[in-house]
Amino acid sequence: MIKIIQVRCNGLSKCLNEFTEAELEKYYKPTIMVRGQPKKNLPERLVISCRYCAEGKVIVTRKMIEEM
Ligand SMILES: [Zn+2]
Repeated sequence: MIKIIQVRCNGLSKCLNEFTEAELEKYYKPTIMVRGQPKKNLPERLVISCRYCAEGKVIVTRKMIEEM
């Protein structure tokens, strides 16, 4: 099952943006290795330009990603 996160942008029109886990991974910092195990280096929050309007930004926090 594909996990999808829905976040509204902070622009006037509050557009609903949807991201799959794979799409969000493109924004992660490079995966780091901890004791030979790959570990996702999740940033505290991602700021992504809204897909639907020019002024809006979508804020995705680490907590939201972890709870997907
Ligand atoms: Zn927007």
